[in-house]
Amino acid sequence: MKQIQRHLGWKLFISYVLVIVVGIVSLLVTAAIHTPTAIERHMADMGMGMTDSAGMMSGIALDFQQALSEVLVVAGSLALFTAVMVGSFLTRRIVQPIQAMHAASTRIAAGHYDERVDIVGEDELAELGRSFNRMAHQIAQTEERRRLLIGNVAHELRTPLSGIKSVIEGLQDEVLAPTPQILAGLEGEVSRLQRLVSDLEELSRAEAGQISLEMKPIKLQDVVNAAVSRLALQFEEKRVALTTTIQPDLPAFLGDEARIIQVLINLLGNGLQYTEPGGRVEVQGRFNGEQLELSIHDSGIGIPSEHLPHIFDRFYRVDKSRTRPGGGSGIGLTISKHLVEAHGGRLSAKSPGTGQGSSFTISLPVVSAS
Ligand code: ADP
Repeated sequence: MKQIQRHLGWKLFISYVLVIVVGIVSLLVTAAIHTPTAIERHMADMGMGMTDSAGMMSGIALDFQQALSEVLVVAGSLALFTAVMVGSFLTRRIVQPIQAMHAASTRIAAGHYDERVDIVGEDELAELGRSFNRMAHQIAQTEERRRLLIGNVAHELRTPLSGIKSVIEGLQDEVLAPTPQILAGLEGEVSRLQRLVSDLEELSRAEAGQISLEMKPIKLQDVVNAAVSRLALQFEEKRVALTTTIQPDLPAFLGDEARIIQVLINLLGNGLQYTEPGGRVEVQGRFNGEQLELSIHDSGIGIPSEHLPHIFDRFYRVDKSRTRPGGGSGIGLTISKHLVEAHGGRLSAKSPGTGQGSSFTISLPVVSAS
């Protein structure tokens, strides 16, 4: 009994057989009860009741009833046999995909993320199989991202940590003297680690959609001014010209001021970083009739077309070398994209190619006039 309770296959099989058994029994019982009266009525209709004796009539009726029962028993047995055959075939067709999904989910749980089930037909079970495969694909992708993230984080931590370690060893062995220059170098590496850790925290919050935004109507000119004034000195020091052209009387947009300024500082900072002295960065703001568009063009090193689709991926850098002083970790654009999208906007990048500058454009929905 327990065996039956635990297996869907048995339950289905028994239900098929039960249906046919109930059908046969009702047929037999109905035939047994109804046949004598039906025969009598038919014979009476045929006029036999008038000429033949009652004994002869009941003899014929009995013979007929026995013959009928015999036929019904043979037909019933054949129906039962066919039901067993068809039932076991159908049961297998239904239970097999479920068993396959069960086996696949067990293997996925054990870490084999490439496991998939075969899809047969177009019914609900096939649909279930397809959504199972979609789920398995998502799990595999999430796992791959997790693995990559851990690898990237370890890689990012290794460089500054080994720098710090070798300086400390040099100081301990008195190969190095604790000069202000050495200590400043150490401080620089530690700051880089701190930046990385806070970027990572920010990234994980952004990816989980957990960044809380304090939305209020904002003027584009105000946030651009705030970001520009924070970086003005650095632009001056590197001799990169920074100009802004914002259309007057632009409609306001709904946003978190600090977050939008953070995005602008990231984009302007990149413009500065990837532009040689003597170059320029231009900020342009306009309304295209539907959305606000803020573009940041630079005359810098540009982005080769094969890298463009990836620059918003986490840890992606066109120049893979980590020797660039104060070099970023390739997370800034990922966070910026998440922040712009959290405002219902879009962040895109364009570049004609190496040495020909780059443009980043933020599109933001405006506050409706109503
Ligand atoms: P990073 O901190 O490394 O600058 P980002 O996420 O801000 O990280 O940028 C990712 C990569 O995109 C950079 O490493 C760089 O290769 C490329 N990139 C970003 N902005 C520019 C730009 N204005 N000009 C050229 N390349 C850029």
